[in-house]
Amino acid sequence: MLLGHTGLGQTDYAAMRKVMVENQLKTRGIYDKSTLKAMSKVPRHLFVPKDQQIYAYADSPLPIGQKQTISQPYMVAYMTQAIKPWKNKKVLEIGTGSGYQAAVLAEIVDSVHTIEIIPELGEAAKKLLKDLGYENVKVRVGDGYHGWPEKAPFDAIIVTAGAEEIPKPLVEQLKDGGRMVIPLGPNHGVRDLILLTKKNGKIKTKSLMAVRFVPFTRDN
Ligand code: SAH
Repeated sequence: MLLGHTGLGQTDYAAMRKVMVENQLKTRGIYDKSTLKAMSKVPRHLFVPKDQQIYAYADSPLPIGQKQTISQPYMVAYMTQAIKPWKNKKVLEIGTGSGYQAAVLAEIVDSVHTIEIIPELGEAAKKLLKDLGYENVKVRVGDGYHGWPEKAPFDAIIVTAGAEEIPKPLVEQLKDGGRMVIPLGPNHGVRDLILLTKKNGKIKTKSLMAVRFVPFTRDN
């Protein structure tokens, strides 16, 4: 039988997901058990447009409309693992997009707050996450530059759009001992995925790898 097909004309997404975890994640250094478990569980194909579903478990980003993309599975797993996603954590995501990264986080941590600047994407993600039963995710439409001050501080912050600078409000809203990942660098180029940590009020940054991300835009 062809992998990914049940023989009944249906697509076996669970089998495709398993292969994705084995071949794209475990072999490339994704070791965190909770991250691997969440990646094995979240139905990524439901977060992409119908005509992309067959590619949902491929090793690449995919278009989600409005000129935006859902990140490659490896990147979602890598960023999740990088914030050390323990179960009691409160996480802020900037760039909801399809809602997939938020769902992966929601499988692991206590609560996820996520902000999307494009209303159509934010509303669609909100509905999908609700339909899938992710009650610990709150979606807000707006400019994530300002973070979510009413809910701060956060144990971890994941920015999934490529920024030219680190938004100050996000650094302020990060808890002491917290971790933030953000793709940083000029628009239309390769950026650095940065890990920012805060300890005793001191900020440290470390470059993790070269990445490509859609730009972080501003409401003005
Ligand atoms: N995490 C998403 C991938 C999102 S792509 C997923 O799992 O599907 C990046 C997203 O960031 C896009 O949807 C884009 O519209 C959004 N974005 C860009 N600038 C933003 C900003 N200032 N505030 C909030 N969202 C922003």
